Amino acid sequence: MSENKIPYKIYLNEDEMPKSWYNLRADMKNKPAPLLNPGTLQPLTKEELIPIFCEELVDQELNNDTAFIEIPEEIRNFYKMYRPSPLVRAYCLEEKLKTPAKIYYKFEGNNTSGSHKLNSAIAQAYYAKKQGLKGVTTETGAGQWGTALSMACSYFGLDCKVYMVKVSYEQKPFRREVMRTYGASVVPSPSETTDVGKKILAEHPGTTGSLGCAISEAVEVAVKNPGYRYVLGSVLNQVLLHQSVIGLETKAALDKYGIKPDIIIGCAGGGSNLGGLIAPFMGEKLRGEADYRIIAIEPASCPSFTRGTFAYDFCDTGMICPLAKMYTLGSSFIPSANHAGGLRFHGMSTILSQLYHDGYMEATSVEQTSVFEAAEQFARVEGILPAPESSHAIRAAIDEAIKCRETGEEKTIVFGLTGTGYFDLVAYEKFNNGEMSDEIPTDEQIAASVAKLPKVE
Ligand SMILES: *Cc1c(COP(=O)(O)O)cnc(C)c1O
Repeated sequence: MSENKIPYKIYLNEDEMPKSWYNLRADMKNKPAPLLNPGTLQPLTKEELIPIFCEELVDQELNNDTAFIEIPEEIRNFYKMYRPSPLVRAYCLEEKLKTPAKIYYKFEGNNTSGSHKLNSAIAQAYYAKKQGLKGVTTETGAGQWGTALSMACSYFGLDCKVYMVKVSYEQKPFRREVMRTYGASVVPSPSETTDVGKKILAEHPGTTGSLGCAISEAVEVAVKNPGYRYVLGSVLNQVLLHQSVIGLETKAALDKYGIKPDIIIGCAGGGSNLGGLIAPFMGEKLRGEADYRIIAIEPASCPSFTRGTFAYDFCDTGMICPLAKMYTLGSSFIPSANHAGGLRFHGMSTILSQLYHDGYMEATSVEQTSVFEAAEQFARVEGILPAPESSHAIRAAIDEAIKCRETGEEKTIVFGLTGTGYFDLVAYEKFNNGEMSDEIPTDEQIAASVAKLPKVE
């Protein structure tokens, strides 16, 4: 098919949507390291995980071998309300950049939660309901996950308790109200409602919180309340599994027009959208069927891949969660409060960490002022107001397209546009006022938190 026949938006039909998730681990020779019990340092068993997580999700978490896992019909029906999501050819951005590169983005912001997080929230709520639970607890940073989970819980009639990182709770009151509208209860973290919250507040009075603190609080509440389980919006294997719907749709859309990407780019917080977007492409790469450049983009103020250490670490500040082997800045690392761009988690998915360690993907860090510059440039030509997180990927896609302009190469670039930025206008305001700065941790700061990694080997 000739180039000019490719539409601005490539849509799939409902019946072309994936019927199974793709479990990338099945094709990995070096499997991601298992989660460890923080007490015994032995791999966690199913029996140890089911008091914390829903049983079927534990099975998915531990399943390193089954390549395709069927998406239950109830979940597929919910997906149909906002999926398939469009794969957009960024013709206007290409023209603006005067680049011979062909740029595509997979847009996941077309739902009320404003991000890809709903893809996993609906799956996790479904399995909780199926198990007959009363409700779930979770943490949220910027608020997209909490919103997605609130929507999913109200759909299935589950109670939803959200611990929201205090700085976001204060900066994003509207996000909070969306969650409450869907029936969730929202508590700023750290809080006095949990033992771990009280302890953190005593040690760090006035702290603006972190995802790690909020996770500790949500886990404590789930474990102490019968009929509740904890759910997590990123990092875990099960979340990457659910997010594979992004990559499977992307691949199906590209295949319709015989397009083969050269470069695939995604922002990386805990790694779920990136892991989902790249899944089928990485699968081909692992099986030796195709090759792609795959690039994770992270904030310079929270650079887990590019400046972290590959080691076992706690996923939470309170150090009550399992240990995961990942690229980490240390669970006590808290990004500077001036960092407005999301992607604040200190660690990274164990799947992506292993793939990065084994050389299957690259990582780059970008500074937030340059991220907002890219966001603005994108918004002005492509129309969509992007989330700051997504804009990390936009920055890198623009940079790669500019390189193509210089070399004359007609590369095909695909990036994940994970969500919209309507609730990030305080950050945009700072940027527009010229008040945004870049605060990058020093080597000493990173070394200090890495020095506190648990001793495992
Ligand atoms: C949560 C979020 C991210 C980062 O999370 P990952 O698990 O790394 O995907 C990126 N973009 C948006 C819009 C988000 O809400």
